[in-house]
Amino acid sequence: MDKSTYEHCQIAFSFLCLILGPSQHTKHTEPFFADPVYNPLPNNYKINLEINEVGQIMNLFEPINHKASNISWRCNVDVYVVEIDGVSCYANASLQMIFNCHYIINQLVQNEEHSALTKLAKSYLSQQNPLNSIPLRRSLGQHFNHVQQQDAAEFINALLCHSDSLKNCLKHELISILTCLNCYDVRTNKTPNYILPLAVTENKVTLNSLFNEFSKEIILEINCSNCRITGNHSKVMNVSSTRQYLCIQLQLWNELQEKMHNVSLISLSTTSLKVDEKMYRICSAICHHGESLHHGHYTSLIKKSNLWFRCNDLTSNKERWPRGGKDIYMLILEKQN
Ligand SMILES: [Zn+2]
Repeated sequence: MDKSTYEHCQIAFSFLCLILGPSQHTKHTEPFFADPVYNPLPNNYKINLEINEVGQIMNLFEPINHKASNISWRCNVDVYVVEIDGVSCYANASLQMIFNCHYIINQLVQNEEHSALTKLAKSYLSQQNPLNSIPLRRSLGQHFNHVQQQDAAEFINALLCHSDSLKNCLKHELISILTCLNCYDVRTNKTPNYILPLAVTENKVTLNSLFNEFSKEIILEINCSNCRITGNHSKVMNVSSTRQYLCIQLQLWNELQEKMHNVSLISLSTTSLKVDEKMYRICSAICHHGESLHHGHYTSLIKKSNLWFRCNDLTSNKERWPRGGKDIYMLILEKQN
């Protein structure tokens, strides 16, 4: 790179955003720009940029995906990640997953003035670092006050019991349709639900295959309240009245508390899932590392400006999406416009 090209690169990055428009890279191939302005970039970044003869920024970083074009640029904003205390990873990972949902955190701050969850949400929004989750855990009762590992899903359930705002954001209805195969009487049952449990029955799955498994027809032999005959009934589960977010819990443990090994959740970070005629995509997740629900370690993966960050108690680092969605346990999907 000659000196005059290098001087061109000193233009404010925000000015470059203005001229060049959005990145041409796909989500998987974003190059490593993490600052909204060009100037604060360290020099070892700047030497990987060039302006070509038609005024385009040439990104000389190697693309992550070698099939992608390497002529691209990107301006990221809002990559600040708040860290939460090092005491209880299950609570930290849960809070990171929830607070990364913009609509939820806005609802929490607007609607619930006095709860410990709202206080923490306000601190998160004002980018206080690190955050302390202990007052919140205390407010949820004795169970979460011990220095002992807990299940992240139980913790989120406890949060739901204390927060109507959180309930309103995650609420949906489970509909079970039971049809007697003798008299064809149909019974429909609707129940409100907040965390959708998806059974993992194979090692290689996708979000769509898990959801299809959940909603596939099963045959039960029960007594019909209409024709009074004990015989086959078809049962189908469905999800309706979904809102801005869907929270999913993967059922990785069997009744003997044995964890399923080597589960590969393929293409999770790029999959769109159609539920209730709306499209949803992942915005954050909780990972569980280890064997037992009560002894492992929890971290979270959160998406900011199309980059993934791994939050691990008091640290957060930019990271590539883990291959096969390794260790994913819970996730929040956001409705796409
Ligand atoms: Zn019947």
